[in-house]
Amino acid sequence: MYKWKDAGDIRCMICGAQADYPFRALTVRTLKVRDLGGEKKVQALGDFTDFGICSSCAEKELSSVRDFRAAIRPKLIRFGAVLLAGIILILVFFNRDRVFLLLGCAAMLCGILGIGSVVTDARKRRAEYEGYTADRAIREAAWEAVVKNAPKKNGDEDLSYIPVTPETLSMKNGDLMILYDLLPEIAVQAYTKIRAEYNNRNGAAGQ
Ligand SMILES: [Zn+2]
Repeated sequence: MYKWKDAGDIRCMICGAQADYPFRALTVRTLKVRDLGGEKKVQALGDFTDFGICSSCAEKELSSVRDFRAAIRPKLIRFGAVLLAGIILILVFFNRDRVFLLLGCAAMLCGILGIGSVVTDARKRRAEYEGYTADRAIREAAWEAVVKNAPKKNGDEDLSYIPVTPETLSMKNGDLMILYDLLPEIAVQAYTKIRAEYNNRNGAAGQ
């Protein structure tokens, strides 16, 4: 089991219990700037932050991956409402107003596609977890719980996090870029910073 040496006092960010899954993560700060050329992304690396999740909160997250029905229900209800609104618009404005009729068709399509993608994503996620060892699966679930509960905004900036883990270090720059939505030069910087931090914390004993 992979752990930070000095993770002793980290609390679970959800329930406040002693954390069983501590994470050190590199913060990525992203600012979306609009100008005449469209939307541009400005990105910079922030500090390392510690997060923790206890085993019962991690278990909860893991069971929502395996039995995803309850977890995706709110999203399904939202898309279902859009679908229903579309059907109502079509029924009400059929042969009466083409603009509203088109709007109804668009809403219906959006609802159907939305429901489809929510279900597909949940199945894909479950399949991905089935490929993990039990130890890796619970740590991935704990990390997902961190991502869900960590601050996402700082003023106008979007915040995201890259965990300092052996899995991150085994990634290529390109994969890091795609997975964490990084600009190419930021991916290179992030990798260097994370490797230094990992080696620093784990000493020569770390892989
Ligand atoms: Zn907890």
